[in-house]
Amino acid sequence: MLKNNILKIIIALSIVLAVFVGCQKKEEKNKIYVGTNAEFEPFEYRDGDKIIGFDIDLINEISKIMGFQFEIVDMQFDGLLPALEAKKIDVIIAGMTATEERKQFVNFSDPYYNSKQSIVVQANNTDITSFDNFTGKKVGVVLGYTGDILVSELPNVEVQKFNTTSETVLALKAQKVDAVVLDYEPAKNYVAQNTELKLVETDAATEEYSIAMRKDDTEFLAKVNEALKTIKENGTYDALISKYFAN
Ligand code: GLN
Repeated sequence: MLKNNILKIIIALSIVLAVFVGCQKKEEKNKIYVGTNAEFEPFEYRDGDKIIGFDIDLINEISKIMGFQFEIVDMQFDGLLPALEAKKIDVIIAGMTATEERKQFVNFSDPYYNSKQSIVVQANNTDITSFDNFTGKKVGVVLGYTGDILVSELPNVEVQKFNTTSETVLALKAQKVDAVVLDYEPAKNYVAQNTELKLVETDAATEEYSIAMRKDDTEFLAKVNEALKTIKENGTYDALISKYFAN
């Protein structure tokens, strides 16, 4: 009798466990891995071990509308596209410019922010006021960024490629390079935090930040665009802009 009851309990427990594992699996299936490079304030950056920023809030709002769970995967910027291709991540949100070259490999959402490249130099520098003054100069960029592509195409520039935006700024502060080229908002942030540096605005082309997805995830792309549209229409987008770009 006792044996029978124990058996019943074991069977009941097994059923509960199976249902539980089943549910968990379902939830996992609904989980989206979001790739970023948390070195790009105010779009994505670290606050202690938390990754925060405009892009993180934006994907959070999109996830609420679309009803998915997500996990942020932080990696080097030039590893993002290969990771998407290899299905290690499902989406990239990283202040990534929708360039024609990248469009060959991924689908981009509708743009969610416009920016452009800018130059950072030592505050007392007077001879670099535009890209035209780069001739014969050492210029720091981050590997694979649009700034890297832009500067690498200029003639007679000694381009030094770094893995992160902060490394370019350290090199500039140590006078190992004469200038660095970064997207406008992160550049502005670095200058605000380092009084020995200054920002040089440029006439570089506008770059559209977009969310990247795999080419065959077309249904997902359509839903992300719909969610973006809702966010822009219902005031959420403006609230995020004021939160991160108050000044
Ligand atoms: N907008 C730039 C690019 O797409 C830099 C992005 C970034 O550093 N996160 O290359």
